Amino acid sequence: MSLNVERGLPVTRVISRMTLQQILAQAVGQDVIMNESNVVDFKDDGNKVTVMLESGQSYEGDLLVGADGIWSKVRKNLFGHTDAVYSGYTCYTGIADFVPADIETVGYRVFLGHKQYFVSSDVGGGKMQWYAFYKEDAGGVDLPSGKKQRLFEIFKGWCDNVIDLITATEEEAILRRDIYDRTPQFNWGQGRVTLLGDSIHAMQPNLGQGGCMAIEDSYELALKLDKEWYKSVKSGTPVDVVSSLRSYETARKLRVAVIHGLARMAAIMAATYKAYLGVGLGPLSASNQLQRWFEDDDALERALRGSKWYLLPLETDASRPICLKERKTSHVNRISERHAHIRYKDGAFFVTDLGSEHGTWITDNEGRRHRVPPNFPTRFHPSYVIEFGTDKRQCIGLSNDHTSNAAQIKPDAAVLQAA
Ligand SMILES: Cc1cc2nc3c(=O)[nH]c(=O)nc-3n(C[C@H](O)[C@H](O)[C@H](O)COP(=O)(O)OP(=O)(O)OC[C@H]3O[C@@H](n4cnc5c(N)ncnc54)[C@H](O)[C@@H]3O)c2cc1C
Repeated sequence: MSLNVERGLPVTRVISRMTLQQILAQAVGQDVIMNESNVVDFKDDGNKVTVMLESGQSYEGDLLVGADGIWSKVRKNLFGHTDAVYSGYTCYTGIADFVPADIETVGYRVFLGHKQYFVSSDVGGGKMQWYAFYKEDAGGVDLPSGKKQRLFEIFKGWCDNVIDLITATEEEAILRRDIYDRTPQFNWGQGRVTLLGDSIHAMQPNLGQGGCMAIEDSYELALKLDKEWYKSVKSGTPVDVVSSLRSYETARKLRVAVIHGLARMAAIMAATYKAYLGVGLGPLSASNQLQRWFEDDDALERALRGSKWYLLPLETDASRPICLKERKTSHVNRISERHAHIRYKDGAFFVTDLGSEHGTWITDNEGRRHRVPPNFPTRFHPSYVIEFGTDKRQCIGLSNDHTSNAAQIKPDAAVLQAA
């Protein structure tokens, strides 16, 4: 969250569905909620709406809001049967007690693959929620207690962030559903009956907006009804329910249609990922330059050319990094008299140990550590760990004239990383 604020971006908060339901249930009071009350039909006589339940009971009210989801009975009774649109993807979801190491800085991740993708999200309270999308026909079923096993097969070879989350999830906490949406339609209601949420604008989940739109719908509906109620109190006339429902629908249609379209577009982008991996560039195949970039291991360094590089102390409580950007060649002083220098050349970084007493050491991504040979430039990547001098008996001082708050830092190791 603080990163969003620092960068002037809106703050996105994620809340688990169960927690949200509990909050809402407490707010309205448990006594007004009736579970197991399946609506099978309704009748609008112009003055009131009567709702018939599966149990045979019926209830009367001033209006009916069909917020009964993508397979809405209210919608079907209003407008007849229409097919929902299958997205082409089935989706496994799960929730696990799991706290990733980088939880402070990364709350939401999307991993793209060929005809499959994986989304993970911090939902607070030490829990991570995840969604695994896999392209296949609708209607597939798993073996009893076989969901986790299937996910391991589907996501075999994927990075630890994905595998660790699946591993940490109990089989019973994994659900599977095929993803459908509904093409937006112009009519949302008739008379004293209206629709809200997925019943009228079910959308694909790729932007995480379906539930948000349903909540916005309810807010707008409450505003319109409230306005009509005040008007009727002031004028002494009955509340014009029908007008308030139609003006709620008008207020919501455009926004919801735009988000619906964007959600479909996001799904297409995720689903056509392969086209950009070099198997073929689809519409972009004319661009040889693009192909070269994807095959270029040094693309990261080059892409970051204009960004800042920091030397971050590992074993100190100083939180501010030493910035190495200002000079293409940074001489690191006061470790040895002249210990090492770091050079940036042709998009790559090189460290040269200047014959220092305690040496300069590099640890690569596989954890292999070696001493940099003296007076010879050694290539390193931003994710590598570099240690300047390793003799723990000697406290190594490191300072940088350009960053006064770094003057006190005395690490025996440092990592270079981009920010
Ligand atoms: C995999 C996945 C991930 C998602 N992620 C996000 C996300 O991150 N953020 C987000 O905002 N949205 C997300 N969504 C979308 C979100 O879940 C829906 O848009 C939201 O739940 C719609 O709310 P609703 O109240 O309209 O319908 P629903 O949540 O479907 O609720 C409908 C309710 O009506 C009841 N009902 C059905 N028929 C009847 C009947 N005949 N009589 C009485 N009751 C009935 C159902 O039991 C249910 O309780 C996601 C959806 C999926 C599938």
